[in-house]
Amino acid sequence: MTNDDARSSRIAFLEQSAIRGMTRHCERLGGINLGQGVCPLPAPEVLLEATAESVREDLSTYSRWEGVEPLREALADKLKRHNGLDIDADRHLVTTVGSAGAFACTLQALFEEGDEIIVFEPYYGYHVNAIRVSDCIPKVVSLQPPGWELDEVALRDAIGENTRGIVVNTPSNPSGKVFDREELETIAAVCEEHDLLAITDEIYEYMVYDDAEHISLATIDGMFERTVTISGFSKTFAITGWRLGYAAAPQRLAEPIGLVNDLFYICAPTPLQHGLARALGRIDESYYDDMCAKYRRNRDLICEALESAGFAPHVPDGSYYILADVSALGCEDSTAAAMELLERAGVAAVPGEAFFQSDAGDQLLRFCVAQPLELLEEAAERLQGL
Ligand code: GLN
Repeated sequence: MTNDDARSSRIAFLEQSAIRGMTRHCERLGGINLGQGVCPLPAPEVLLEATAESVREDLSTYSRWEGVEPLREALADKLKRHNGLDIDADRHLVTTVGSAGAFACTLQALFEEGDEIIVFEPYYGYHVNAIRVSDCIPKVVSLQPPGWELDEVALRDAIGENTRGIVVNTPSNPSGKVFDREELETIAAVCEEHDLLAITDEIYEYMVYDDAEHISLATIDGMFERTVTISGFSKTFAITGWRLGYAAAPQRLAEPIGLVNDLFYICAPTPLQHGLARALGRIDESYYDDMCAKYRRNRDLICEALESAGFAPHVPDGSYYILADVSALGCEDSTAAAMELLERAGVAAVPGEAFFQSDAGDQLLRFCVAQPLELLEEAAERLQGL
């Protein structure tokens, strides 16, 4: 029997993400890639040095599935100081292959086939697809533009008898929305009423601008016991290819997540774990503020350029993405708009429809500002010249 499509039924719906797809188009046409969040910026020197040491010391064997002890201790310390979470380095942490690895392990470990999991739109498509591949059902709840506010009625309406979980992504990819305390309290109340598990992806936690404040969902009253907090250093230290993330959760959740992490990955790469642990102890606190200030500048530069090109950016409070309405291009949908922009201006962005189930993304593009300043300035000029 021959079958051209070798994909299992579990992944029959799966296609290459538009995020990666635009990178290929961009490479083909030699454009500036403001699409995929590749983050080709220099990693901090202390991290590179600490990791080179760890490689030379040949710290090359498996770690426990939870991760090496120095890293878990450094993470517990960071979670206490930065997030206000009381994390036990021995019982509450699993070091994973990127935050995507933490997300996948969490789904496998804690959810049953047919469970419904709430996801807010605009969403990160990898969340939705990972839920589907885990035989669970994403229930999409739209946030309200232009500020992407939480609509409590819509959230409550989406809950049915099979709803078991909710995904929060703050600061959010692609909208840059930062959930405020009131919204997190609403989510917490709903979680408690309906006995939901929360998965919160906080990978952009150090990129928060102006008056916005990053609040970890697990710090809201009663939430620690039912929350898996996922993050990592891919974005903060510009090491997206290292694939180092973590899940922090109460022991009853962390243990099963760790079992799956062991089964699929054994552990995250150990020399990199040691390097990160050492760097976390050595890096100057000012690094985080400086990094954030640079992203804020990048955001402003590209938002202004988008405006002068006749587009309407949703100025983000966090993350390194900008969603912008590009109706002015006069294209039928966001894929056409992304190709038009790439061909006319040599700037790649991700089609909005990658982040929406509804048609609300049809005139939106997502621009990523994690690029060197010179390149962003060139992109800004090209946009302004449209
Ligand atoms: N999170 C990044 C983005 O949204 C990278 C994801 C990816 O490369 N698939 O662009």
